[in-house]
Amino acid sequence: MKLAIYGKGGIGKSTTSCNISIALARRGKRVLQIGCDPKHDSTFTLTGFLIPTIIDTLQIKDYHYEDVWPEDAIHKGYGGVDRVEAGGPPAGAGCGGYVVGETVKLSKELNAFYEYDIILFDVLGDAVRGGSASPLNYADYCIIIADNGFDALLATNRIAASVREKARTRTHPLRLAGLVGNRTSERDLIDKYVEVCPMPILEILPLIEDIRVSRIKGKTLFEMVESQPYLNYVCDFYLNTADQILSKPEGIIPKEISDRELFSLLSDF
Ligand code: ADP
Ligand code: MG
Repeated sequence: MKLAIYGKGGIGKSTTSCNISIALARRGKRVLQIGCDPKHDSTFTLTGFLIPTIIDTLQIKDYHYEDVWPEDAIHKGYGGVDRVEAGGPPAGAGCGGYVVGETVKLSKELNAFYEYDIILFDVLGDAVRGGSASPLNYADYCIIIADNGFDALLATNRIAASVREKARTRTHPLRLAGLVGNRTSERDLIDKYVEVCPMPILEILPLIEDIRVSRIKGKTLFEMVESQPYLNYVCDFYLNTADQILSKPEGIIPKEISDRELFSLLSDF
């Protein structure tokens, strides 16, 4: 199963991705997480350091795919989750789509693309076009991370439009599994939005100080809980999301609203 996690920059995609990846591994799945953000820190909390990107590796090997070994590209992380970091496009050469395309090509070459039960793409989605749309070519499900704010819901609406369009043009089915509310205590705007653009809400996570700290420690919540057992309740949020995905939900093909409608829906004047 292939998952694409989308959402605006800084919303918590990588944090949520790493923790969901481990939750899926805890359920016995072989998981590969592919970071597709040029920031290339998708898998940071799985390792505690930045791993070399696919583009770095390919440049060192002068783009000779046959010289790249699985261990050059695929790194082992906490909880048995394997990780690949696509990286940013080389200066002046290509775009993010090219990078993600090369990453998928290489993982196919290494037979990795078919070896895992779950491949999770962590993708920047402020505007889903060109490169950042390319994981939607491979995904079975898209999951959107948002908070109860205008910008995250604007990005959600754009991602919804891309999923609708890809689902229409692709032969392999693509569904939106739903939205995860992150750093969300009030959820009035999310509720307003899903009333006019219906989509399942998979989970609502509040702002949790220990999640912020997890980024600084370079650890997932599943690693932190080993010494801080009170964090079990946070792991349960991620396990619950993983279980919903594993139940192969029906999901939806979304129907986005117009920008004008979105602005009037979410403005209070
Ligand atoms: P993205 O990948 O979308 O750019 P990150 O996952 O890197 O975002 O998250 C940005 C920051 O927000 C990180 O420092 C992370 O620890 C913090 N963060 C994410 N989710 C939460 C949360 N629910 N509560 C508190 N801090 C969070
Ligand atoms: Mg990220």
